[in-house]
Amino acid sequence: MSEKCLFCSVARGEIPAEIVVERDDAIAFRDISPKAPSHLLVIPRRHVPSLDEADDATELGSLLRLAAEVARDEGLAESGYRVVINTNEDGGQTVPHLHLHILGGRRMTWPPG
Ligand code: 5GP
Ligand code: ZN
Repeated sequence: MSEKCLFCSVARGEIPAEIVVERDDAIAFRDISPKAPSHLLVIPRRHVPSLDEADDATELGSLLRLAAEVARDEGLAESGYRVVINTNEDGGQTVPHLHLHILGGRRMTWPPG
């Protein structure tokens, strides 16, 4: 856990967020600045700075599984959705706490910008 990390603060309940799922090890909440009709974030409660530093394959697997469950609960499973992990600077990561974006509710374009 990191004192000044934004998403650690969300996980501790110190910063309000629209949380949709709370687990012992992870939470899912709505992105404050949605880039699609449905835009949610899945994060581990423990501080992991990025995918590059994520060394626990079991944890990564359960975050992905949770993302799929959140997408299904959001009604996105049939129409489809995208899961994105921006990693470090060129990847567009702005919050240095591992997070999976779930984007859906519109047709995604490819390739991403
Ligand atoms: P990144 O750019 O690091 O891949 O994604 C960070 C995401 O966090 C962005 O989509 C941004 O809108 C979202 N975000 C930043 N600050 C907050 C916040 O305080 N609350 C919530 N719910 N989302 C945030
Ligand atoms: Zn953190």
